[in-house]
Formats: sequence, C-alpha cells, structure tokens
Amino acid sequence: KNRNQGEKEFLQAAREIFDSLRPVFLKHPEYIHNGILERITEPDRVITFRVAWEDDTGKVQVNRGFRVQFNNSLGPYKGGIRFHPTVNSSIMKFLAFEQTFKNALTGQPIGAGKGGSDFNPKGKSEREIMRFTQSFITELSKYIGPDMDVPAGDIGVGKREIGYMFGQYNRLKGGYEAGVFTGKDPNHGGSLGRKEATGYGTVYFVEEMLNAENDTFEGKKVVVSGSGNVAIYAMEKAIELGAVVLACSDSSGYIYDPQGIDVETVKQLKEFDSKRIQEYIKTHPNAVYHDGCTDIWSVACDIALPCATQNEMEKEDALLLIENGVKAVGEGANMPCTEEAILAFQAKGVLFAPAKAANAGGVAVSAMEMSQNSMRLSWTVEEVDEKLKQVMKNIYTSCYSAAESYGHPGNLVIGANIAGFLKVADAMVAHGIH
Ligand code: NDP
Repeated sequence: KNRNQGEKEFLQAAREIFDSLRPVFLKHPEYIHNGILERITEPDRVITFRVAWEDDTGKVQVNRGFRVQFNNSLGPYKGGIRFHPTVNSSIMKFLAFEQTFKNALTGQPIGAGKGGSDFNPKGKSEREIMRFTQSFITELSKYIGPDMDVPAGDIGVGKREIGYMFGQYNRLKGGYEAGVFTGKDPNHGGSLGRKEATGYGTVYFVEEMLNAENDTFEGKKVVVSGSGNVAIYAMEKAIELGAVVLACSDSSGYIYDPQGIDVETVKQLKEFDSKRIQEYIKTHPNAVYHDGCTDIWSVACDIALPCATQNEMEKEDALLLIENGVKAVGEGANMPCTEEAILAFQAKGVLFAPAKAANAGGVAVSAMEMSQNSMRLSWTVEEVDEKLKQVMKNIYTSCYSAAESYGHPGNLVIGANIAGFLKVADAMVAHGIH
C-alpha cells in the first residue's frame, strides 16, 4: 500500500484480487513461499514521458504519456492506449493489472500492458490529433514491437489514431511491422470483427450465464450505459438475440426509447458524426433525453450492461436495479461497478459477469489479429466471430469451474480472478524468481 500511495483505482483492483485468492492460498501455500502475490502486483516497468506537440494556433502543448508493461509471462505485453484527461498512473496501473488476468483468461499467448495520455481529443482538429499522436508514438516506439509489446485502442483511440501511430512507427523503424499494433483498419492489416468483438463478446458471455439458468436474451429489457465502441456492439448483439434495448448514454446524459433503441441511429451519431446522444430524439420523437448519465440505472430492466467507464455504477444504482427486478449484469467496461455494487448484486442472487471475463472478447480478437498478421492472411468475419464465441464460452467455463473447485459455486468474480491468476502464477513460477 505504501508503495502505491494515492493510487485509488489500482488499490481497489488489487484488493478485489487479493480477497478472491484466499481459497487458493489455503489450498496451495507454495504460492505464498514463491512471493507470487508481491510479484504479480508489481508491474515489470512503468514508462512515463513528455509529449510535446504544436496546436493549430502554433502554441506548444505538453501532455504526459504512459505505458505500463505489467506482465509478460504468457506473451508480449498487450493492452490498449487511452487518450482521456483523467488518465494518470493509478488508472494506467489498474487497467494493466486487470489486463494481466483478462488476457490469461482468453487462453491466448499474450502478456499484459496498458498505456495512454491525459490528452483530451475532444474539440481537437484532425491535424492536432495527428501531431499529438505522432509525438506520443515517437517516444513510445522505443519500448514496443511485435514480440515485445503490442498496443491497441481504448477510450479516445480508434482506428484513425492507430493508423497514425502505425504510420509513424514504421517511418521511424524504416520497415513494415504489421504486428506492432492491433485495432488497425481491416483494409490495412486489421482483423475483421475486431470493432464488434468487445460488445459482442460481453453479450456472448452473459448469454452463457443465462443459458446455465435455462434462460436467454429473447424478450429481455436491456439497459446499456455508454454509446461508444463497446456499448454500440453490445446493443447490436443483444437486439440480434431478441432483446429490446431501452436506454443508452454518453457522458452528458441518457436516452430512453420505449420502442427500443435504434442502434443504427446511435452508430451514425457517435461513430460517424461525433454528435451527442441527445441528438437521437430529433429523429425519434418517442424517445426522451435526460440530463446526467448516472440516472440511467433508474430505468427498469432485466439485464444491465455497463459499457462506459470505471466506477460508473455505485451501490445505490445497484439497489435501484435490484428493486426494479434486474436478473443479470454484465460488465462491458473495465471495473464499471464499485465493490459495494457487486456485493449488493451477489447478495440478491443477481447473475454477475465481471469485466475481466466478460469484456475479454476485444483482446481475444486482437490476439487473432496478431496471428493473422504473422501468417500474412485474413480470416473472414464469420471465422473470427465463430472463434470469438468459442473463446467466450471457454472463459465462462473456466471461471465457473474455478469458482466451484475453490468453494464459491456461481461466483464468477472469484472464478475469473482465480482462473486468471493460476495461469499467470504458474508461468511465473516456471520462469524462476525475477
Ligand atoms: P469509447 O470512447 O468508444 O466510448 C466510451 C463511451 O462512454 C462514450 O459514449 C462516452 O461518452 C461514454 N462515457 C464516458 N464516461 C461516461 C460516464 N461517466 N457515464 C456514461 N457514459 C460515459 O470507449 P470504449 O467503448 O472503447 O470503452 C468503454 C469501456 O470499455 C472502457 O472502460 C474501456 O477500457 C473498456 N474496454 C474497451 C475495449 C474495446 O475493445 N474498446 C476492450 C475492453 C474494455 P462521450 O461520448 O460523452 O465521451
């Protein structure tokens, strides 16, 4: 704790893992002798750097860049880059730490990292974004590579920014290293199905939970927070499986559409026009816009999918959802529910899918992009989707089995933490003390 003072989000994530691992240490005290807990919570390295760039008025701006290379026991460091004003070392470390277990759960040969900057892309011109991104990658290029560290997108970083980073990286290296980034445009080395993978994967995971209870998405009322990459494709898949999505949000407020959200309109507004979600009601007069995004959890639903950001759902929100009859919650975003909210769901028997398992579909398809790049070929969208479904099924099964074998049947939070931990810990033990 002393070493990580003030790192609220990182300490929160570490506490959750430690609590879950108690039954593992009781059964296998050898992990304690190996110092695994201390080693697994200390990143391999944290790189911070200055990112200076010139804005459109000719003024020099300075931001801070980060890359946390957390653990490479299972493969090259792998994890997204986030551009958002809230980025700091605690958030970077919590995300990279969570990524360690998430990536292990996918069963693919990838380690874990996370990076980003406190740069705010909102309101910046296309050229400013390019200049910033080129400056950011000029420094980061020293630490990444297809067998070393393979970044991807996250909040504020999509295929456009990845394209700029990829171009600048290749320019600096004087070659073409297709496997250095994932999340590239499918027309230029990216994987089909990557854009949809996190949202679809979250819904596939929740579907597994429902199937285990002889239930499905058919006819369910769903609320999804956010209207970004994860939220849009979670909505799309839920609707495809027969659900009605009643509400979604952005950081300003939420929309409620009693006839069911028209996901194509949301895509147009958010993916192409960069508009606020409020604009939805202009073309859907039956829908209502509410200012303030957290109130979205007051909309009664069967399934809640928080897909926006960390700590967006608190205990009071969870209690409201429970009161309104929620049956299942699936975390599409990273750590969107506070510890108290999760405990409230579990106390009332609400099915709960934790982020590190439920949203692993994105990184799983990123690993598939790495495979395709190495083989210099492209799989069809159907092939990728089939593999994604299988990965999500496997993740569900390993979380479920780990929870059962360690005395917490049905508790997928504990199951995910244990299954992910064992995979990484065993590799670390095999590689000796370092
Ligand atoms: P985007 O930037 O595409 O979208 C984020 C969305 O959330 C935007 O609609 C944003 O609104 C909204 N938002 C931000 N803060 C809040 C808030 N407090 N309440 C309600 N809405 C809010 O990001 P992604 O969809 O890519 O990522 C979302 C989450 O999923 C993050 O936690 C990310 O780490 C996680 N994740 C993403 C993966 C991916 O493949 N993209 C993979 C695994 C995890 P606005 O438009 O106003 O900014």
